[in-house]
Amino acid sequence: MELHIFFLPMLTPGHLLPMVDMARLFADRGVRATIVTTPSNATNVRSGPNLNILTIPFSSAFTGLPDGVENLTSLPTPEIPPAFVKALDLLESPFRKLLSDHHPDCIISDIFYSWSSDVAAEFGIPRLVFQGMGFFSLILTGILSQLKTHETVTGDDEPFIVPMIPHEIKLMRSELPTYVLKPNDDIHRMAKTQGKSYGMVMNTFHDLEAEYVELLKMSWHMRVWLVGPVSLCNQGLLDQSERCSGAPGHVSDQCLKWLDSKEPGSVLYVCFGSLGKFTAMQMHEMASGLLGSGHQFIWVVKSSGETPVVDEEKGLVVNGWAPQVLILNHPAVGGFMTHCGWNSSLEGITAGVPMITWPLFAEQFFNEKLIVEVLRVGVSVGFKQCCMDMERRMVVKGEVIEVAVKRLMGGEVEAVERKKRAKELSKMAKMAVGQGGSSHSDMSALIQELVDLKANKAKTA
Ligand code: UDP
Repeated sequence: MELHIFFLPMLTPGHLLPMVDMARLFADRGVRATIVTTPSNATNVRSGPNLNILTIPFSSAFTGLPDGVENLTSLPTPEIPPAFVKALDLLESPFRKLLSDHHPDCIISDIFYSWSSDVAAEFGIPRLVFQGMGFFSLILTGILSQLKTHETVTGDDEPFIVPMIPHEIKLMRSELPTYVLKPNDDIHRMAKTQGKSYGMVMNTFHDLEAEYVELLKMSWHMRVWLVGPVSLCNQGLLDQSERCSGAPGHVSDQCLKWLDSKEPGSVLYVCFGSLGKFTAMQMHEMASGLLGSGHQFIWVVKSSGETPVVDEEKGLVVNGWAPQVLILNHPAVGGFMTHCGWNSSLEGITAGVPMITWPLFAEQFFNEKLIVEVLRVGVSVGFKQCCMDMERRMVVKGEVIEVAVKRLMGGEVEAVERKKRAKELSKMAKMAVGQGGSSHSDMSALIQELVDLKANKAKTA
């Protein structure tokens, strides 16, 4: 019996890319997968066998957003303005129309679309939720939102221990995102509809955070399917280079050519996700730290200001979009300086490279703890201020960056051990999505359950 799933991703690369990867994995398993997104976001999605795209209009006109803003990357800061939330809500009506026209059997919806819960119920189909995080961060978010442990300390920089988890994790209030410190109505709405969902589909794998998977299953009473790392659906160079079709092909060629001339494991890849921007002063310190380390690097810059000029022998600067999965999997890459977005964290783990962690906002400070303290494959740069506005962020000095790079890329025992652990995790990640692996089996189980559900519905209809 054919199964048809609608995928509805949030309009930002950190959600769109993993959802498209996930849709491809389902499509590879014979499911008809349809990505529903807005016209400008659709240009970044490649269709394929069993994988289609349907568009719904984005109404900037009614919301006060400037024309052409259909993605968080077009906004000055990663903060989601109320007008954008309104525009996401306005997608409901055209989405309903698509449901009546195409009759899918299930919706995998981003958590940001709270309305998709009621819509799915109305059409009598299950709604599975995707929130783009791992279990560790989800658990920390849940515990701190409920117990408010951070309110028991007096200062923003006074450490507290996160209760009720298997590891001793210390955090400071300054590292917590606004959605934990001061959740607004939208956050409450998302949490409520998440609870009403059929279950959650997670981009992670069981052995990476097994204790936290069990903890969540026990305490949240939610059904979960772990299907990651989904970026592994991009196998060949072409797939990796074209993962986001908005990325210009010549950048991939340039990066590959540069990397091909380097020794294995010698290059540090530096990228702060799709939204990580820095002031000119911070960029200057970063250049000085990277150059001072003596290690070669590819540095991805998302700045509208001047691109730093670096001697090509020492480093390659990419201004704009870089083919991250392609770069991370090149044998010349031996380290990753990351903002700890969940996709980047998981892509680093999957590629088997140790990381320098420099979180900026959202749940990235939680992911840092997982990478550095639980998995022990990272070195922290020591930044402690969760902040979306680059102008308000404290500047990390070049000397500090240099020390972190040398620690990560050097040949000391701790660095060698870290690299070894990273390679082991990469093996585990690949096994998880391979035939008979935990993520492969979870996806099979979910597909079978949805097919059975459809068959039962047809019988009783
Ligand atoms: N990415 C990329 N090239 C870039 C920047 C980002 O391919 O120049 C991809 C990256 O591989 C990841 C996603 O964009 O899949 C970013 O997601 P993440 O959760 O790491 O961070 P966010 O951008 O949401 O902060």
